[in-house]
Amino acid sequence: MIVLKTAREISAMRDAGRISARALRLAGQAVEPGVSTYEIDTIVRKYIEGEGAKPSFLGYGGFPASACISVNNVVIHGIPSKKIILKEGDIVSIDVGAYYNGFHGDNAWTFPCGKVSDEAQALMDATKESLFEGIKAAVVGARIGDIGSTVQRYVEERGYAVVRDFTGHGVGAKLHEDPAVPNYGTAGRGTRLLPGMVIAIEPMVNAGTHKVNILKDEWTTVTADGKLAAHFEHTIAITQNGPIILTLCD
Ligand code: MG
Repeated sequence: MIVLKTAREISAMRDAGRISARALRLAGQAVEPGVSTYEIDTIVRKYIEGEGAKPSFLGYGGFPASACISVNNVVIHGIPSKKIILKEGDIVSIDVGAYYNGFHGDNAWTFPCGKVSDEAQALMDATKESLFEGIKAAVVGARIGDIGSTVQRYVEERGYAVVRDFTGHGVGAKLHEDPAVPNYGTAGRGTRLLPGMVIAIEPMVNAGTHKVNILKDEWTTVTADGKLAAHFEHTIAITQNGPIILTLCD
């Protein structure tokens, strides 16, 4: 069931979105060689709790941390660890949500650690751009398939692959609501987009195969071929005036 949000609720969701975005920015600023992903997770948790909010991911389905931090061939759901020390050239996908005043925000970004290869930079650029292309397609009257097909076409034209096993989702009082928002699909198909829908669009893009594997910890999701992956996400509201990004810092 899709829960539509009133204008007032969307306005309230900007607060959760802002906290999520600022937490993500802080996390990104902490990315540098020698830093552990545990340290970055601590920064995220302290910031969110300091704002009187709750980290959306902490304890969600048993997830043991406040941020998912996924390095290089890890696509999503990397568990922060003191043993994972960032090094020059890594690409670091950080996914963060905050729950505040009854609503969640959810956003992700892939950050370079120091100087990265041209290949890694191109993958990050294409993934980020595919997110914004997907957002542009999220207009009233379009369909879920218009978002996915737009993202997929953008990504595949550049020789990359979109992950099929995980999708974007509705966001609201629950972190994951209906509808699912795949990063692939057929234009003109799927649920029609209505004013008041709030969704997270989150392309997960692999340099090689779209296939992924989940490690024995039951979270860490890696590319099946060991190649790099990137992940960018915003929570947006669909309105008569076009899509509004809720996960903004200011
Ligand atoms: Mg999400």
